Amino acid sequence: MGKEKKAVFIDKENPSINRIEAKCIDCGVCKKTCQEKENIQRDFYKDICLGCGQCILTCPVGALSPKYQYKKVLDYLHDTEKIVTISIAPAVRTSIGEAFDIPSGENVLNQLIGALKKVGFDYVFDVTFGADLTVMEEATELFNHLLDEEGTTLFTSCCPAWTSYVRHFYPQYLSHLSTAKSPIGMQGAVLNSYFLEKERLDRKNVIHVVVAPCTAKKEEIFLEKSMDICLTTSELILLLKEENIDLKTTKEREFDLLLKEGSGAGTIFGRKGGVSEAVLRTLSFLMAEPFRIKTLSMDENTRVLQVTCSKKKFKVASITGIKNVIPVLKELENGNKLYDFVEVMNCEDGCVGGGGQPLGAIKKQQMFIKDRMDGLSKIDRRAKIRCSHENMDVKMVYDTYFMYPNSPLAKVYFHRDFQKDKSIIEGVPSDIEVI
Ligand code: SF4
Ligand code: SF4
Repeated sequence: MGKEKKAVFIDKENPSINRIEAKCIDCGVCKKTCQEKENIQRDFYKDICLGCGQCILTCPVGALSPKYQYKKVLDYLHDTEKIVTISIAPAVRTSIGEAFDIPSGENVLNQLIGALKKVGFDYVFDVTFGADLTVMEEATELFNHLLDEEGTTLFTSCCPAWTSYVRHFYPQYLSHLSTAKSPIGMQGAVLNSYFLEKERLDRKNVIHVVVAPCTAKKEEIFLEKSMDICLTTSELILLLKEENIDLKTTKEREFDLLLKEGSGAGTIFGRKGGVSEAVLRTLSFLMAEPFRIKTLSMDENTRVLQVTCSKKKFKVASITGIKNVIPVLKELENGNKLYDFVEVMNCEDGCVGGGGQPLGAIKKQQMFIKDRMDGLSKIDRRAKIRCSHENMDVKMVYDTYFMYPNSPLAKVYFHRDFQKDKSIIEGVPSDIEVI
């Protein structure tokens, strides 16, 4: 029997991550990263991968990468029969500039829109709009949850590495996950209904691409089936470079008019604590009174807030790193509810530290992640609209199509059934290109 490899096991069929075996020096850093960040006993559960791609960020020789699909996107862009849309996730705008000698944390959104138009995308949209829909649906869900005196902990579900962890290791808590779709899931749902109808387009001729900081989203969009391709930030950099685009010199453009507006609340989905802050802003509106918010504890990975209003007192935690949420799950198993609402993000400082983000020097990564996070907070502070429920485009989409948050139609389009995902997870195909 050959010697056991020190490298983490990456299945050829893995929808998120690829390893070029010829480059691998078998140093074992990827396995250590995985074990430390996700607390999975790799030698035992070797074939379970949450798809977060944190191993890509730490491999010293570049043997690991996202499963590349950008060449397929280029083919679609050159196919005159296809209408190609692209939606930009919040965390991409303050990181992609790094690959073009623009300081990390700088918001290059308008140059990026210009670049995407230049390479031939027919429509460019903002996933921040989808994030606002997630807030509307999730805040309403939390509102109803808090009314229920017996209500247990509600966990966010927009991080696919986290939902995959629950599916594999704590399936008894799938029913505790918010059923509101992630921002990308929402975006796909609106594009396939409202957008196609308004523009009188046939879904057969349309390709929906999304660019995200996240490798795990590749699996999520397969499960959701509304978007066609998820490119990581790092893949989009390869695509733009192949098309000789330099973001530094690209003419700035604006988003397409339909579904244009995103709020500051939607933007901070890209950094830790952002989802819970965004949800609390809208929950306060739903409860029709301001909240008093006190920080009970805070460290690098966990922040606990106590929220008080005349109707209710409740606790909200934001947690990064899956291993840091395990004590909360263990307490739940013992019948103890520590918090009412918990935001869970797998990656360091949230999606700004995602496995699909640009690869810089390993030593500088933490500094870049902080800059990206500060960049998103700055966009939020300066935003004309800071709350999802004040987004006029979101209001219009509800008024003219989906009626109201958690309406019967919104339930069909904007919510997921995690119990069902559990049964289809086995069949993820891999028509994903490996180069
Ligand atoms: S970190 Fe990279 S080089 Fe080291 S074992 Fe993993 S894939 Fe191989
Ligand atoms: S934290 Fe964000 S980037 Fe990281 S796995 Fe979760 S969704 Fe993806």
